[in-house]
This record gives sequence, C-alpha cells and structure tokens, in this order.
Amino acid sequence: MSKGITRIKRDIVVIGGGPAGMAAATRGEEEGAEVMLIERDIELGGILNQCIHNGFGVELYGEELTGPEYAERFTRKIESGDIDVRLNSYVLSLSPDKIINLLTPNGVFEIDAEAVVLATGARERSRGEIRIPGDRPSGVMPAGTAQKFINKKGFMPGKKAFVLGSGDIGLIISRRLTWEGAEVVGVAEIMDYPTGLNRNVVQCLHDYDIPLHLRHTVTDIYGTNRLEGIELSQVDEDFQPIEGSEKDLDVDLLLLSVGLVPENDFFKEAGVTLNPKTRGAYVDEWFQTDVPGIFGCGNSIHIEDLVDWVTMDGFRAGDGAVAYAGTGGLPQADKEVRAGENVNYVVPHKVSGEDEFRFALRVTEPMENVDISIKGTDISSFKQIVTPGEMEVEEVLEDELDELKDLDEVEIEVTRRF
Ligand SMILES: Cc1cc2nc3c(=O)[nH]c(=O)nc-3n(C[C@H](O)[C@H](O)[C@H](O)COP(=O)(O)OP(=O)(O)OC[C@H]3O[C@@H](n4cnc5c(N)ncnc54)[C@H](O)[C@@H]3O)c2cc1C
Repeated sequence: MSKGITRIKRDIVVIGGGPAGMAAATRGEEEGAEVMLIERDIELGGILNQCIHNGFGVELYGEELTGPEYAERFTRKIESGDIDVRLNSYVLSLSPDKIINLLTPNGVFEIDAEAVVLATGARERSRGEIRIPGDRPSGVMPAGTAQKFINKKGFMPGKKAFVLGSGDIGLIISRRLTWEGAEVVGVAEIMDYPTGLNRNVVQCLHDYDIPLHLRHTVTDIYGTNRLEGIELSQVDEDFQPIEGSEKDLDVDLLLLSVGLVPENDFFKEAGVTLNPKTRGAYVDEWFQTDVPGIFGCGNSIHIEDLVDWVTMDGFRAGDGAVAYAGTGGLPQADKEVRAGENVNYVVPHKVSGEDEFRFALRVTEPMENVDISIKGTDISSFKQIVTPGEMEVEEVLEDELDELKDLDEVEIEVTRRF
C-alpha cells in the first residue's frame, strides 16, 4: 500500500450519483450489501438538478415531478440510510479487477470492490465534434450548459437565440429562454423529423410559435468577441448544404443540442467492450458488461429519454451487482440480442433466457402501425407510431420465456402491420 492512501473494501461501489446511480445504490442497500456511492459534484441528483421543468416520473410514479423533486425521492432515502456517500469525490482509475482509486476531500482511497456499477451519465457533443465553420466568438455553447447557467446560476446567456438540434434538451431550453424573456428565432434540425419527444415539440415549440426548420443546419458563425449572427442553410438528401438556400440570422446566442455521448472512459479503462452504435458498453439483462462484476446503467450505457427507465435500469443493475457480490456469478447470458429489421440498436445485448427482462430500442426511421416482435416467436406488441426520437421499451415476461428456449439468438424487429 502506498503512503497516504487508505485502502478499504466494499461489496458494491456505484460511480455517479444521478438517477441511475442512486437507484442502483438504494437497491444494493435494501438487499443488505455494503454500498459506496461516489459523486464528483457537491450534491446527488445528476442532470435532474438542472431540469426544473416537470415531466419526470410519469411512468414510475404516475406523477409529473420536476427534476429536483424526482431526485429528492432518492436523496432523502439515501441520507437516512447506511450508504457510504462520497460527494465532491473523483474516481481516478478503475481496473478490470475492480480496484478503484478515489480522490476525496478527505484524502485518497484505494477501494477493493466486489462489484462496480458505472452510472456516469453522458456528455453533450460540442461544436468541434460537428465541425461548424466560422468565427470563434463567445455565445456558442451546448444547450445543457445554458440550462445550467439559467436554472442553477441565475444567469441569462443571451437575448436572441437560435438552437441547433431538435433533441429534448434543445426543445426544453427554447421554452425556458422564452419564459425568461429571450427571443428564440428558431430551431434547426438536419433530419426531416424532430429528434426529441413529440410532447416536447408541442409543449416547447408549437405552444410558443417557435419555428422548427427541418432539413436545415448552421453553416457559418459570425462575430469577433460576441456572436453576432449565423448562416442557416437547407440540406439535401446527403445532408450537404444546398447552394443558394443560405439565410443570415442576427442572434447573440447559438445553442447546440446535437446529441449526448455516454461517458465511457472508465468502461474503456476496465477493458469493457463498447457498442459502436450506442458508444456505451455491451451489457446483459442485468446490465453486466463483459468484464465480470462491472455493471453499467443509465445514460452511460445508452442515451435514454425518460428518467423512469433510467431508474428501472439502475434497480436492475443494483440487483445484478448484489447477486454478483454475494455469489460471484449470475446466470450465463449466452443468447445474443440482435437489432433486426428497422431497429437501430437494442439494449441489452445478451440475455440468459432464464429471467424476465426488459429491452429498449430505437427504430431507424419514423413508421406507423408497426409490430415490435422477437423474430420466430409470438412475442409482439403493436404501436401506432414509432420514431427514432422516442425509445421503445418492451417487457419479456416469465410466461413468455419458454418461447426463447430454442433460440440461439434473440432478434428484435419492427415491421409494418398494414
Ligand atoms: C435537458 C434535459 C432534459 C430532460 N428532461 C426530461 C424529462 O422531462 N423527463 C424525463 O423523464 N427525463 C428527462 N431527461 C432525461 C434524464 O434526466 C436523464 O436521462 C437522466 O438524468 C440520466 O441519468 P444518469 O444517472 O444516467 O445520468 P446523470 O443524471 O447525468 O448522472 C450522472 C452522474 O455521474 C456523475 N459522474 C460522472 N463522472 C463521474 C466520475 N468520474 N466520478 C464521480 N461522479 C461522476 C455526474 O456528476 C452525474 O451526477 C432530460 C435530460 C436532459 C439532459
């Protein structure tokens, strides 16, 4: 042991104190495990703390809570329980044999964990990642950063805004800016459909007459110190700007809502295999990765729309971690789950077929009147509308497991009924 490093053991260490991590940690504690929950921020709650709009908890609690209200249901429980919570603490490294180096205000720790749950959330894609040409003025930032400025710091980042990307963060920030007295000139989306939830398109754009420009993108940025304007262009079938369609707009704020990427650094460090589609880890029905005893849940596995699913996945990962820490194993998940016709990706990627499970998927394009089915079985459900912006979640119940018995792989497909 190196000098100045305190070495401790825990049954389960959860990294990340957002909804996914809090769910996994509380489940671990309920099942009698010795749990440590690590959060780099000064409070638990993750993204929920900056989401002061309502809409959280509809699936799980049948209520429309704000983000902080939803978080409070867990933080209260955690504060009154026995979970070893480490705030303002940063994980420095995670090894495949589950040794964690942790920097905290009380010193440096080396933790030997039986099971680890990674619940580190996601980060926003930046201007650099989508390569918008032009000047480099201030006033160009990710939409979630602007949300944090407004909702947590009480600071308005601009007066006349344009939002690039119609994901949920972009939609919600458009409404928020309008409420705070800013003018939102428009929202541009490169696809020919909005990528956020339909309810957010209606409640955040239509209700405030904010124009949505489908098949458009920002092709130039102007300004020396502060943003002065942008160039908006229509795009063709190959997403290339159409010459002659350019339009200049005077704005002092450009917000980017162009996708989230799972925080996957610790998965990589621990030698976990990643899925190139989701950029999160490959996981089984217990959210266990291909490194035994390392689990993941929430946005660090794939980008989820609703916090309710994040929480349910966190519970499941917590159950898996408890089982692993207690017995050193879980049922062998040897049936590969494949994304079939019209499915962009599906999670989990492997199942044992012995326990009921839930799968989440995103389709490749908007479709109407479809069946979401497991190929070669009668397991199927009908949906009137599916779009890539809305995650579909289906359960495979215990009495349906028999149907999977003879399958080597579980192929999920989405097919038009009529
Ligand atoms: C703008 C916005 C609006 C949304 N609106 C809704 C809505 O209306 N309804 C709804 O149901 N859902 C909504 N969601 C979705 C939901 O909030 C997210 O899916 C959910 O917060 C993801 O939970 P998570 O725990 O995976 O990640 P997060 O909430 O991001 O939590 C991850 C945590 O891990 C911590 N962390 C990361 N790395 C480390 C490290 N190295 N060491 C220690 N800690 C670390 C972070 O500080 C953070 O606290 C919204 C999301 C956003 C971004």
